Amino acid sequence: MWIKEFSNLLYPPVSLCPICQVRSKSRDLPGCLDCLLSLGLTYRPLKTGFPAYALATYDGRIKELLNQIKYQNDYQLAVTFGQLMGLAVRELAIMQKVDYLLPVPLHFSRQRKRGFNQALAFAEGIVKVWRRPIFNKVFRVKDTLPQSGLSPSERRRNLNNAFVISKAEHVRAKHLLVIDDIFTTGITFSSLANLICKYQGHPMGLFLAQSVGNV
Ligand SMILES: [Zn+2]
Repeated sequence: MWIKEFSNLLYPPVSLCPICQVRSKSRDLPGCLDCLLSLGLTYRPLKTGFPAYALATYDGRIKELLNQIKYQNDYQLAVTFGQLMGLAVRELAIMQKVDYLLPVPLHFSRQRKRGFNQALAFAEGIVKVWRRPIFNKVFRVKDTLPQSGLSPSERRRNLNNAFVISKAEHVRAKHLLVIDDIFTTGITFSSLANLICKYQGHPMGLFLAQSVGNV
């Protein structure tokens, strides 16, 4: 009824913070202030040979929330994290170079099983606050084993030729920001980064969390 819509305009319904589901969301921010501050997001460079950054350590609350995304298929929470990632980096000078966001692709069979690709959900959240096109011409052609529990050499072998680019000419001289949830050994990142370099592009990386131990 129109009167209800009119009252929504005057008194917009309070939306809950998607992180705690208890307090109300702060205006213009993707969560409540308590949650956002408790996540302790900072901007930390990673040793990869390319500009790459993580915003948190993979432990405590961040670990719980990432598990919630993965095991409860919480797409909205992944988008919220994406918004946070975008807000955290969009003003940085180095990020002004970014031409495309490149969420790490999942193999289609795994994506079908899981329902959605959380790296893509992060990128969709980033786009809400920082307009950059998502590059969707990279595919995972090998249904790789989960990287967790593998040794570094097994991880490397596992990802050998796992990714291909279908429109390689679009990569030349472009800066592609690889987006993923967790940075562990960096082998997934470097296999994508090498592919980008092979076609004269410039890889960069942005991860929600850096794992300090093995996951
Ligand atoms: Zn909250």
